[in-house]
Amino acid sequence: MTLQNKDSLVRKMPQAFITKSSFIQGYDCPLRLKYAVQKTFASTSQGDNFLRLLADGGFQFEKLVRHAWPGDTLGGFPDNAAASHDKTMTALRACLKAGKGVLHEAVFICDNLFVRVDMLRINGNTLELCEVKAKSYEGPYDSQEAKSLISCKGNPDDINTSMLNRATKKLPSLVRPAWLEYIADIGFQTIVVERALAAENMTGLTISPRLLVANINQSACEYDWFGNVLPVIDLGLDSRFRGELHLINKPPMGWRSPLIAELNVQEAIDMLRNNNAQSGATRWQGMTLDEIVDDASKLIQNQEGVDPATERGWKCRGCQYNTPAKGNKQCGFDLCWGAGAKSAQNLFQLYYGKTYTPPEHKPDSAVNEYVEWINNMVTANGTKKALQVADMEPEQDDIGSPMNKPRVHRRRRQIQAEKQNKPQFSDQFAEVVKARLMPKSGTGILRFMDFETTSSCLPYVIGMKPYQVVAFQFSVHSLVVKGGRFDLSKIEHVEKLCIGSSKDTDIHVRDVEFATELRKALTQPWQGVHDETSPVFHWSSHERTIMRMLSERLDDVGNHDELVEWLNATCLAEHNDTPGRLVDLLKIAEANTFHPLQQGQFSIKKFLPALCSEPDTLAVIQALGFKSKIPTDEDGCIDPYKGLPSFASARGNTGIDANDEIAQESHEGEGIRTGTDAMRAYQQLRFPECVEWKDANKKPIDNNVLEKNLLLYCKLDTAAMVAVWWWLWSKAGATHVLEFKT
Ligand code: SF4
Repeated sequence: MTLQNKDSLVRKMPQAFITKSSFIQGYDCPLRLKYAVQKTFASTSQGDNFLRLLADGGFQFEKLVRHAWPGDTLGGFPDNAAASHDKTMTALRACLKAGKGVLHEAVFICDNLFVRVDMLRINGNTLELCEVKAKSYEGPYDSQEAKSLISCKGNPDDINTSMLNRATKKLPSLVRPAWLEYIADIGFQTIVVERALAAENMTGLTISPRLLVANINQSACEYDWFGNVLPVIDLGLDSRFRGELHLINKPPMGWRSPLIAELNVQEAIDMLRNNNAQSGATRWQGMTLDEIVDDASKLIQNQEGVDPATERGWKCRGCQYNTPAKGNKQCGFDLCWGAGAKSAQNLFQLYYGKTYTPPEHKPDSAVNEYVEWINNMVTANGTKKALQVADMEPEQDDIGSPMNKPRVHRRRRQIQAEKQNKPQFSDQFAEVVKARLMPKSGTGILRFMDFETTSSCLPYVIGMKPYQVVAFQFSVHSLVVKGGRFDLSKIEHVEKLCIGSSKDTDIHVRDVEFATELRKALTQPWQGVHDETSPVFHWSSHERTIMRMLSERLDDVGNHDELVEWLNATCLAEHNDTPGRLVDLLKIAEANTFHPLQQGQFSIKKFLPALCSEPDTLAVIQALGFKSKIPTDEDGCIDPYKGLPSFASARGNTGIDANDEIAQESHEGEGIRTGTDAMRAYQQLRFPECVEWKDANKKPIDNNVLEKNLLLYCKLDTAAMVAVWWWLWSKAGATHVLEFKT
């Protein structure tokens, strides 16, 4: 572009830019791209706690990168695009003249494309375009090797190190799905920078694309652990929190953390640019990355329409625009599905519905051939009464792969449950429950266990590796059973927080504390009964994984043989000759039951509210101390998690009416109601000097309140398991042994 053209570009700035984040959001759907650019649609990624937590780790990681490669920070946003672009060009020309330089947040624009490059290193005529991501990567173990430039091919046989699939006779080599988003992102930046440079008549330059990620095979030292790169979390600030991070113990100038792995992604980007960009959008099937960029640019520039019927499908289920309209933000999902929106939402609740094969299809067909069924069904139904899972027909028995068979049976159970509006059970249900849910002799102690754990890009302790997990809390409910009889009002409860302080430099101290206290809680006699063999119930495989992790870490450090032996014996697999004590209640529920209100999901947060629609089950939760009056949802579910206090109400200053659903909803996320909330609370309790979570009124949350909320949240998780256990037991027709006093 000539100077004259550039001036006209400044005068005629596009209405809306495609940024790297909107490009990636819309990579699999052009409608999603339009919604991301327009910014007038409600999105689940706005205010998502988990994303926020990840972003926090990202800024810490970026801080380490900037220490290793100090340079000028330029910055800029689409609303000052032209000025930011000009600033970058001036700085870039100066660096090229000097033959070197580092620019952070350099802005490039071309037509309606806008990129802000995390880091641009100028090395002679080569521009090293670096994207910084707090993503885990299996890099070298050797710390010197860890600092070298790593090929994106890694070891092609190792799924953890290679970004590329090996080519087969039928398929060419492709970018692995886990890396596609990152490669497409850097590819987009490369294209925009190339075009912007050409427009400025800056020729003879080579762009070398890089990805800087966290090497999970390197350990943190005194400079790059979490507590040395202190974040300040303030919900009222700009999401980038720039200027809020400090390196407490200053590393030497130019020091580069071995946690930073630098990958040369040129070859992977070439694949997307020369062969096939692997987009999941129907419109962009088989196109190269450059072709998609051109089409996306025109689509936004010309405000061209896209027929949603060509893009709708299973990808809509997890779409960030599948969320209700809020304030002045519209619902993108409703716009895409029109009159069929309700039907689609209902059918998305089918258990593993993506693999559903309509019964009229051939039994020997590949199951995934039918992913379009949902769009076809909804379109055929038109504007008639919304479809429900109950309107579907169960599949044939012999459909699909062996892996799909259990899903076929469970889907059938779900369809029956919704047709008959009552829970359904497998033929083996009563037998399984009686064999697995009681002490073998009829007398003993049943324990219900749940952990809270956390991990972070920068390790919480010196010597740990990025994303290594810390177990910091457990809750155990213990129910004494004598001769097959039990009294729920006498259930015992033990809980423990092992947070430590920012001064902790040894993770093993916390590991030992956690494992020792857990052992006590799972072996402690109650009400005159000694029992160290009866089942310990948990929900999903997480607790077993964590106990194994603790065992390995304590074994490595030595001197804890007895504890290691106990951990190993306790979590031996259920099919072992001498099984351990752990019993996964989720597996039992999923293989044998279906409740019509659980929306096809077996997460405890969905399953419990469905069971609490039955007064007897709700009474169990109330008997365990969760007595808040919770309004019944539209579909009949009662969700005890909604009864957990928000921070503001715990401080007693909001005046929120418990029956005012809108006011309640606006306070969601302020208390501890999810695992991610618990992880953030851990950060504040562990690092009170630096991490501060504030409430809706921008007041720092009191750490005592935080602790109480954490304990309550974890306690509800185990109370939920007790309620599920009780529901299973009573539904198995075993009521003759109940002595249920609340
Ligand atoms: S709901 Fe579906 S069609 Fe609409 S934007 Fe999302 S993914 Fe695309």
